[in-house]
Amino acid sequence: MELTWIPLSLIIGRSTRCFLGGFRGGAMNKAFESRVRRTGQKLFQLIGDEVPPLFHKESWTGKVIAQCAKDEAFKTEFLRFMDVLPSLKQAESVAEHLIEYFGRPEQRIPLDLKLHFTRASPASLKRAESISKEIREMVEKFIAAATPGEALPKLSDLRGRGMAFSADILGEAVVSEAEADAHAQRYLDLMEDLGRAQAGWRSLGGSDNDLDWGVAAKINLSIKPSSLYSQMSARGFDQSISRAKERLRPVFRKAMTMGAHICLDMEQVDLKNLTLALYRSLMEEAEFRRYPHSGTVLQAYLRESETDLRELVSWAKKRRHRATIRLVKGAYWEAEGVYACQRNWPVPFYTNKRETDENFEKLARLVLENHEWVHLACASHNIRSIAWVMETAKELKAPPERVEYQVLYGMAEPVQKALVKAGLPVRVYAPVGEMIPGMAYLVRRLLEMISRESFLWQRFGEGAPRGQQLKNRGSTSPLGPPAFDASGGGERGTFQNEPQRDWSIEKNRSSFVEALRKARKKFPITVPIVIDGEAITTVREILSRNPNDWNEVVGVVSGAGTEEAESAILAAADAFPKWRDRNPARRAEILFHTAAGARKKRDELAAIQVYEAGKTWAEADADVCEGIDFLEYYAREMLRLAVPQPVGKVPGEESVLFYEPRGVAAVIAPWNFPFAISMGMISAALVTGNTVVYKPSSNSCVTGTMIRSLFSKAGLPREVLHFLPGSGSEIGDFLVTHPRVALIAFTGSVKVGLRIIGLAGKTLEGSLQVKNVVAEMGGKNAILVDADADLDEVVVHVLQSAFGYQGQKCSACSRLIVHESVYARLADRLKSAAESLVLGPAEDPGSFMGAVIDETAKQKILSYIEIGKQEGTLLVERSVPGERGHVVPLTIIGDIRPEHRLAQEEIFGPVLALMRARTFDEALDMANSTSYALTGAVFSRSPRNLTLAREKFRVGNLYLNRGCTGAVVGRHPFGGFKMSGGGSKAGGPDYLLQFMVPRNVAENTLRRGFAPKE
Ligand SMILES: Cc1cc2nc3c(=O)[nH]c(=O)nc-3n(C[C@H](O)[C@H](O)[C@H](O)COP(=O)(O)OP(=O)(O)OC[C@H]3O[C@@H](n4cnc5c(N)ncnc54)[C@H](O)[C@@H]3O)c2cc1C
Repeated sequence: MELTWIPLSLIIGRSTRCFLGGFRGGAMNKAFESRVRRTGQKLFQLIGDEVPPLFHKESWTGKVIAQCAKDEAFKTEFLRFMDVLPSLKQAESVAEHLIEYFGRPEQRIPLDLKLHFTRASPASLKRAESISKEIREMVEKFIAAATPGEALPKLSDLRGRGMAFSADILGEAVVSEAEADAHAQRYLDLMEDLGRAQAGWRSLGGSDNDLDWGVAAKINLSIKPSSLYSQMSARGFDQSISRAKERLRPVFRKAMTMGAHICLDMEQVDLKNLTLALYRSLMEEAEFRRYPHSGTVLQAYLRESETDLRELVSWAKKRRHRATIRLVKGAYWEAEGVYACQRNWPVPFYTNKRETDENFEKLARLVLENHEWVHLACASHNIRSIAWVMETAKELKAPPERVEYQVLYGMAEPVQKALVKAGLPVRVYAPVGEMIPGMAYLVRRLLEMISRESFLWQRFGEGAPRGQQLKNRGSTSPLGPPAFDASGGGERGTFQNEPQRDWSIEKNRSSFVEALRKARKKFPITVPIVIDGEAITTVREILSRNPNDWNEVVGVVSGAGTEEAESAILAAADAFPKWRDRNPARRAEILFHTAAGARKKRDELAAIQVYEAGKTWAEADADVCEGIDFLEYYAREMLRLAVPQPVGKVPGEESVLFYEPRGVAAVIAPWNFPFAISMGMISAALVTGNTVVYKPSSNSCVTGTMIRSLFSKAGLPREVLHFLPGSGSEIGDFLVTHPRVALIAFTGSVKVGLRIIGLAGKTLEGSLQVKNVVAEMGGKNAILVDADADLDEVVVHVLQSAFGYQGQKCSACSRLIVHESVYARLADRLKSAAESLVLGPAEDPGSFMGAVIDETAKQKILSYIEIGKQEGTLLVERSVPGERGHVVPLTIIGDIRPEHRLAQEEIFGPVLALMRARTFDEALDMANSTSYALTGAVFSRSPRNLTLAREKFRVGNLYLNRGCTGAVVGRHPFGGFKMSGGGSKAGGPDYLLQFMVPRNVAENTLRRGFAPKE
């Protein structure tokens, strides 16, 4: 490159419209554009006809890649097979999986891919071995070496061919602190080896200051922030940064002793703000300040990337810190789209390729304009993008040493060579490590190669014309998540889940801190009984306390006795006829207004739960969102069900089926989802036209009173909902047996549930109807782990399912049934992962688990822990800090057998039993062996076993390859059978029917031989 160093006045923060060169309209723009194309053509000439080995059409790999690109279903099966392959240790299991993945008759797989299997035989075992070999060889092309020791010659070889490297140790998102330590240690060891080797390396570019191209460190490492701290979370932002820094400091210190460069890679958008803050925070520390060999990554596909870049540049300028910014387009767009859609969050990236490409160019220019402080690492294989950067650098007279070109190992060899031939400084990102930890990386690479929109596929797969590739900045076809449509909502639109808080946004975290502060200032909150809109105070005082600090009284509650219960029931009964006859659409409208009110108060509602129920930030927020979902969902469901359905079709008759409410509903709610479950049961009862007497749990009356007030503010007539806090032993039976109560909606323990069902079954004199009970009760839920399961995923999901909200969910996992071949490995990893969790009071943002709800619960759980110690082997017993909290240890007990009490009885606390199964079928039998049938989950990558689980794992909610908690309204209609419940699924299309009676009216339309035509 013939560029000379001329200092530029650096301009930051000006509008993108004022950019020079490539972004200026008219003749200048045209001239610039033709220079870009000329440069691109020259690079294409240097590439010639060479094609990367992975695209060689005659090779097995080339054929597979071509098939993946043209057949979406094959691509899915192939990537899934590739994902499971490294965990299959025997040729037999490879052969079985091949049959399961590729043996379906409807699949049309080209014969020469040799993926056809009909049965396991010695010949097919041989074939399985050869396929495994092909796939291994294919993925190994993306990995420089399996171990740091083997990496050295490979990296030296790269340098010998005129390219620098950035070594990345494969493995991201560690699950325990031990793994994070080991990962950081591998970097230190690698540096040790590289440090010894670098003395023998001549600097690239012929400079005599022992730096490549006169400025760059010879040793360059890339580190994924998620590997630095096992509990990395946006919610625990400050804590995550400080723990990650503890591991980064030694790495940076070592890097400084040998003059090495460290780059923090950029991962999913969840971690973006954290990564940027982590980088800046470390570089602001005195010992690292102004160290010139460091940097991070920005992803041009993110809409926020320009703002991030401007902030980074002004930070670098202000601090007089030199950083290298690796500019990429971004490798996670497929996953990001799925997450955004599932969470109902705005899609964070550009949804057409042209916008990403244009933004890449815009950001590259912004970096180059500020080259005095930020050096550009242009990480792209796209000749158009590279040529654009080259021309812009030339135009802005950025010194050559301030721009380097980065490529990925094994991805685009002809491009790499062409860049070297063009005399550009080239760095190869070189992953080091094994296939299993590297699988996520490998799948991203394959996706990139076979994406129809990628430069590599278009150039080397399809052979797109060069000219077109130089002017074409990608297609404009939108790639966005499809709108999720759960239920028709008429004018209100389709149902959408309420998005949970994105804690990576600073404003969300600080407003929640403020909400917690404000909530606490109001304590203790006075909670009266409310009947017919009238507040009643009684002497039966109930104190609602903070489970994490029993001295803190959250609410002082007036408890109802039978007298108040009687008044509430009679008032509800009087109000029933009018409410029943209210237009269902108007009843639904009140639910929509209540949802809007809850949305406005959502931080306050969640903050109260943190103190009153001991929920962590995310659990409390999720509970409020679920409550809002119930309101929105049931309102729409009522609009659907309110339309009478014609039934039967015979001439001369008109027959319609329609529904009407039952009468007075007693809603008896639990404390564990104090907002969501109460809201769900109350709103279902109300919208269907019943009047309600609502008894919240004594442990969550403050949340209960807020629910009542939300309905009231939304315009619900005061005589329709009566708020009756009180002790279950005093008013529970009274409510259930009262002759004027037509319906009981209950969620809670199986003991109380069965009692309610028994009492309600006895129809007393004076009763006007048979009572209906909607009861959701307990669970003894199991997660099954197959021999081929992805243990990284298993560990994360099991911890969440077993210990999220201290295991106090009826859906919580309390049994982990593991195939014996992976039992020991999983038990080990689970143990160290559980030992890494952050335990402490729920109000601490980083806390994963705090105290259980009250002393009774604590004592019961402790007694089960003792039973477990007798029955099995204690693996983990971690005490939770909090002297004044109802704390019980997080406990994992191994070697539990199906006949043990720990395998059969519901505990409702943070106690997990590990069980060993010889086969998948035996695991299923064990799973079904309790009296409960609520939730269950299976981790397996065997299509056969997943099908078997669908058929034979008899639970109300079965989840495949995810945890067993966290049902989402509309997506996972929730509820079980056997001793788990006697109702239909909450948040599903059948739920409201239980709150109504069906009626049919048939009219004979034949009069004197005349019947109206339809
Ligand atoms: C040295 C190096 C280091 C890297 N480090 C990281 C890293 O830390 N973090 C990271 O995320 N990536 C990283 N990458 C990967 C990088 O994001 C991809 O390789 C890169 O996006 C491919 O871009 P390209 O210009 O080579 O190819 P192109 O084919 O021009 O672009 C492909 C990219 O365009 C975008 N895209 C594709 N289709 C669409 C669409 N429909 N709508 C919007 N955008 C679309 C995607 O980002 C896709 O990856 C790195 C790459 C290199 C070379």
